[in-house]
Amino acid sequence: MGSTVGEVRKVMDEAYPPHLAESWDQVGLTCGDPAAEVSKVAFALDCTQAVAERAVAIGAQMLIVHHPLLLKGAHSVAADTPKGKVLHTLITNGVALFAAHTNADSARPGVNDKLAELVGIRPGPPILAKPGPARDKWGVHVPAEHAETLKKALFAAGAGTIGDYAECAFEIAGTGQFTPLPGANPTEGQVGTRYRAAETRVEFIASRRSRPALIEAIRTAHPYEEPAFDILAMADDSDPDTATGLGRIGELPEPMKLRDFVQQVADALPVTEWGVRAAGDPEQLVHKVAVSSGSGDSFLDRVAGLGVDVYVTSDLRHHPVDEYLRAGGPAVIDTAHWASEFPWTSQAAAIVAKRTGVEVEILDLRTDPWTMSTHNNQGK
Ligand SMILES: [Zn+2]
Repeated sequence: MGSTVGEVRKVMDEAYPPHLAESWDQVGLTCGDPAAEVSKVAFALDCTQAVAERAVAIGAQMLIVHHPLLLKGAHSVAADTPKGKVLHTLITNGVALFAAHTNADSARPGVNDKLAELVGIRPGPPILAKPGPARDKWGVHVPAEHAETLKKALFAAGAGTIGDYAECAFEIAGTGQFTPLPGANPTEGQVGTRYRAAETRVEFIASRRSRPALIEAIRTAHPYEEPAFDILAMADDSDPDTATGLGRIGELPEPMKLRDFVQQVADALPVTEWGVRAAGDPEQLVHKVAVSSGSGDSFLDRVAGLGVDVYVTSDLRHHPVDEYLRAGGPAVIDTAHWASEFPWTSQAAAIVAKRTGVEVEILDLRTDPWTMSTHNNQGK
């Protein structure tokens, strides 16, 4: 079954919304024509030259990766530069390139959920949750006989949707009053005389983004010259367990020794030359676990306050870990960056296959830069 680059992009953006990306990130379509037809999509973590060539070789028309090829400003994509060569390989062979990066880390499910499941925990709250969607609670006072017309205009402008329910509203009957002053042109009542009438208060919830459209709808659909309404910003009531954001926290079904958990992590992740290393007492029991896919040292301070027993992440360095452990931080497990994130490709491929019907193929090239490791044999 065929699709287009634009349709695959739409599916990816729905699964991994671009607004979840960190402010410094560059996600989305790097090259390719949204109108171009796609019958096969390739998946990889990084767009290296070898990955680009493999995508061409398998006959893919689109390559989806996690790490953006052009994260920093580029002033040349000449074919004799490494990244330019990658782009020329893709473009001359009709392969579009798309990246879902920190938006895929924060989405539910996303890269972190995949990592959490692999190491053996149910993915719970993020280490750093994104605020839930901003919403307002509205109240509009309207003559009772105009309530239906007003509601219709409000719903059309984006009001009243809660989860899978549309046209949600609440009405309270009451009495409104006003005295039109000189200069007023009242629909009801007369200048200089206090006017009282049966009114309905219509309450509803709406996304903060709809605020300008709703004010416009009220001013257009309400019969009064000066409609009475109020807008309250709602508190964030999103469930922390399913909130979007970076990292995940969860519990192992049973406490286990750190030694055994480190082995479990190593066995669950794709093989790399340098494997998995850990800091902490191998005999200590671990139960509550935090994970952060990719480079996670910026979360060390935050993790120390989460009450977890062990933190699984990548790219850890001597000083930050040393200081964290001295301050009583929980055990840490350091995996290869590539190993913690590559498993996400199967999640993304399954989503694209299911929603577009195109053929998908995960490129099994290990793009971890490290190709060997060894230990000192002198003492043996
Ligand atoms: Zn990464």
